[in-house]
Amino acid sequence: MKKNFRKVVFIDRDGVINLDLGGYVTKWEDFEFLPGVLDGLRLIRERGYDTVVISNQAGVGDGLFSKETLDHITASMTEAVREAGGEIRAVYYCLHGKKGDCDCRKPKTGLFEQAHRQIDFNPAETFFVGDKISDIKAGKDYGLKTIMVLTGYGAAHQAEITPETKPDYIARDFKEAVDLLLVHDAK
Ligand SMILES: [Mg+2]
Ligand SMILES: [Zn+2]
Repeated sequence: MKKNFRKVVFIDRDGVINLDLGGYVTKWEDFEFLPGVLDGLRLIRERGYDTVVISNQAGVGDGLFSKETLDHITASMTEAVREAGGEIRAVYYCLHGKKGDCDCRKPKTGLFEQAHRQIDFNPAETFFVGDKISDIKAGKDYGLKTIMVLTGYGAAHQAEITPETKPDYIARDFKEAVDLLLVHDAK
């Protein structure tokens, strides 16, 4: 019998969903959705996918902003997405500092492992959309299909792609990534 996996799309946050400020988003007022993202998230939901955010937020561990602040940003983001017709099912953050030795800071795969304990997805059929080489590396190491967007650090990191970190697809932005995903879904 064919197993009934959830349809999931993993998405990095800063530089994919919202404008990467080159530092951390430390207050909701600085959180700016990139063009086409809210529409794209709505389309994903309409096609039956769960949206799951996977993000390094080492600023918490490094003491630059609090977990409470991050929770407020997450709640506000989730609410704005819902108002636009999308749905964020879950958010997994690495909160450990940059110098820590955790298993979840991308390019490590711990955040996907955490998600996998709660959501039954098939990695080989699941996309991860990210802007950094570390996103692509984490996604590939977990056996996911990867899309690198050229927003955020994408345009700069594209030049650093090696055979080991080559994404399955490169998309101009999140909207184009969603188009790729939906074409794949239709097959
Ligand atoms: Mg990013
Ligand atoms: Zn971590």
